[in-house]
Amino acid sequence: MDEQLRITAIHEAGHAVATLMRGGGTLRSVTITPGDDHLGLTLHNSKPLDLGFIAYAGIWAEARALWGDRPLDDTDEDMLTFDDYVFDVSLTQPSDAAIVQQTEKEHLALQDMAGIPAEQKTALSEIWDRELEQVWPVILEVARLLLDGELVTHDVVESLLWGS
Ligand SMILES: [Zn+2]
Repeated sequence: MDEQLRITAIHEAGHAVATLMRGGGTLRSVTITPGDDHLGLTLHNSKPLDLGFIAYAGIWAEARALWGDRPLDDTDEDMLTFDDYVFDVSLTQPSDAAIVQQTEKEHLALQDMAGIPAEQKTALSEIWDRELEQVWPVILEVARLLLDGELVTHDVVESLLWGS
């Protein structure tokens, strides 16, 4: 199978599943047919608050696919961590990465305002990593449907995620 197409499908599947993980999100369409400025595209209507998570999910899913079967707290043969993989993918996905960065910045600012000491501050990605790992099998299933040329709708992803 074309590796680029497989990674694109997993990336878009990440966005699609993440859209459904937040109440109020509606998945409008998912495609892995390349356009003028994209390899794949997921369209959704979501609350502004959830855009960071949904953007991150595409980057995360790609990194997760490249990471393979080793435990997430492990390192690879070059001593790289999973976070390093996420960082490397984010460099190749500047539009998703920009949304994630903005959301993380706002999250840090909120913690500043709340007077949380630096060493106790958290990154949203730490929470998002755990949430996404739980739905990794669903992301792979959605990616498989995309690669098989199946229509991936809001209802399809919803039933894979929550059962029908
Ligand atoms: Zn994306």
